[in-house]
Amino acid sequence: MIRRPHDIPDENRTAASVMFADHPDVIRLRASRVLVVGSGRSAAVVAHALAESGIGAVRMVSEAVNVQNVLDGCSVILMGKTDPITRVLINRMSIQKRLPVVYGAATDFTGMVTTMMPDQTPCLECLFGRKEMEEQAIGMVEPMYSVVASIQSLEAVKILLGVGPLLLNRLLIINGMSQSYRKIELAKNPDCPACFP
Ligand SMILES: [Zn+2]
Repeated sequence: MIRRPHDIPDENRTAASVMFADHPDVIRLRASRVLVVGSGRSAAVVAHALAESGIGAVRMVSEAVNVQNVLDGCSVILMGKTDPITRVLINRMSIQKRLPVVYGAATDFTGMVTTMMPDQTPCLECLFGRKEMEEQAIGMVEPMYSVVASIQSLEAVKILLGVGPLLLNRLLIINGMSQSYRKIELAKNPDCPACFP
């Protein structure tokens, strides 16, 4: 299902973004458009966090019915739980359009987030492989969605403001059981069919 893109009304913006409405960062975020790919609670949490950040337009899709149209004008893609075909399609389109993707997932008490930039980092298929992506099952522990979604939203804000560092070539792994974070290095797959055609 494709939901119609919508502008965030002023009454839903944070007090801070209204107070500092003339600040260049606030103006930049307000002029930005972000695509959220995912379904259910995780996409809703991401969209809420982006709106609270003062981002002007949040476009949400749960499946890639017409990827070309939904990507128009977007500067960043946030991807969460969605079907494997949509993940592959959005991955390919992000490479073609050279758009950053902030990917997040949660399984039980483990969450993970990484930011992908075409030519600079591995893509989704580098990391998981197409077959593995299609078989990937994601369980749920509700608060892990919020943690992952908040970190994804923070990455998106940094990308839009041009500040860093970002989670490039690194996978942030959140252990909800031990309340600990660690990062592992990521590398491109030279056999990747998406970014090494
Ligand atoms: Zn790749």
